[in-house]
Amino acid sequence: MQYISTRGSAPALDFEGVTLAGLASDGGLYLPTEWPRFSETEIADMAGLPYAELATRVMLPFVEGSLSEDELRALCKQAYSRFAHDAVTPLIQLDHQQWLLELFHGPTLAFKDVALQLLGLLFETFLSRRKSNLTIIGATSGDTGSAAIDAVAGRDGVDIFMLHPKGRVSDVQRRQMTTVRAPNVHNIAIDGSFDDAQAMVKRMFGDAEMTSRFNIGAVNSINWARLMAQVVYYFASALQLGAPHRQVAYSVPTGNFGDVFAGYVAAQMGLPIAQLVVATNVNDILHRALSDGDYSAGGVTPTDTPSMDIQVSSNFERLLFDCGGRDGAALAEQMRGFEVSKAMQLTNSQREGASALFTSARADQQDVLQALRWAHERSGEVIDPHTAVGLHAALATDLNASIPMVTLATAHPAKFPDAVERATGLRPNLPARVGDLFAREEAFSELPGEYDAVKAFVSERASPAG
Ligand SMILES: *Cc1c(COP(=O)(O)O)cnc(C)c1O
Repeated sequence: MQYISTRGSAPALDFEGVTLAGLASDGGLYLPTEWPRFSETEIADMAGLPYAELATRVMLPFVEGSLSEDELRALCKQAYSRFAHDAVTPLIQLDHQQWLLELFHGPTLAFKDVALQLLGLLFETFLSRRKSNLTIIGATSGDTGSAAIDAVAGRDGVDIFMLHPKGRVSDVQRRQMTTVRAPNVHNIAIDGSFDDAQAMVKRMFGDAEMTSRFNIGAVNSINWARLMAQVVYYFASALQLGAPHRQVAYSVPTGNFGDVFAGYVAAQMGLPIAQLVVATNVNDILHRALSDGDYSAGGVTPTDTPSMDIQVSSNFERLLFDCGGRDGAALAEQMRGFEVSKAMQLTNSQREGASALFTSARADQQDVLQALRWAHERSGEVIDPHTAVGLHAALATDLNASIPMVTLATAHPAKFPDAVERATGLRPNLPARVGDLFAREEAFSELPGEYDAVKAFVSERASPAG
């Protein structure tokens, strides 16, 4: 399988190439040249498979030329053995129509583990083939940092430097990063805000002195391999609910448009998805873009759902490319305009293409508390605030009664105990497997909010590209 950039001028790469590259050299994002498609019989034959086996079937067309079926199967088995539930992503029923797909049974209790556990293994496999090293630099306000650190800790060929704003991430989130003890993991507390940390990371990607010595990589959801791994749980859940003979709808709490784009990919591959509901909090650029074509960024309002406090959704570019006729030159032009003015209007073909599958809804703080309470009162389920944004959108959607609606449960409620307690009166406990988090020793370095200090720290510790 070959991959092309949404901006049309970067070279086509194979799966190994796009996994290590992350962003394309023309600033675009990689997508397969065409969508692999399963027949109804092939999908029916997937029913009842163990998760790692299903993952192998669904992802095989995408890795063709870079991994054999046996290699892929071995990586899937290893990645998904670290989940605390045998089903990996179990499906829970809330009422006659509403379901929850629990994606938080991985090591750091957020859905990002599902893709990052596999990505860590893919990095190790490809780097050892090339005899080279990768230096991952990231800034985090919480979930991404811990899931990425857990995924690459102790892996050969990879060093990770994760910046977090000192004193501004929750205790659980900080400890999930700083109690992972491996020589290739470097946690850095920066004096400053998340935006300051993020700006330093961006600067390092453009610093020729650094990029000539080190192979600098990213683990955010612009990486195609992450989206690919997320396609699998749409198949797993739809098969349980009767696909390919029955349609299924999904409501997806959305920030960077990665998780919900994976649903779009599943639909292109033949899964009978009736609708994808893009659920946003009050930072609602995607809701505005999908309802009236207005993609314009404002300031970010902090909410109880920090992983969705995003104004610019990187992966939306993938949808605009695929729906808008796959015209890389035109999209590059449109995105250049957006980068200057922070606003753009979707074209008619982009709007029509998107509206065939997507709808959207927005949840404010009151909506989130109500959805948390609804789940608890109707079915005794305690959900996290991000999941509650999705459930609010699911309940607000007018859907044929014969179609099941699945809300993606993206985080364990114990990661956000305060909001959960406000709504339900219950304070969720951390699961036993991470229960000693507060007893483990932390390790992190503190640096001033100055680029040169961070650059010197990374230069001294990272391994040359090789
Ligand atoms: C990252 C994250 C999201 C948003 O996912 P995207 O793929 O960026 O849309 C939602 N909920 C939680 C808990 C997350 O960690």
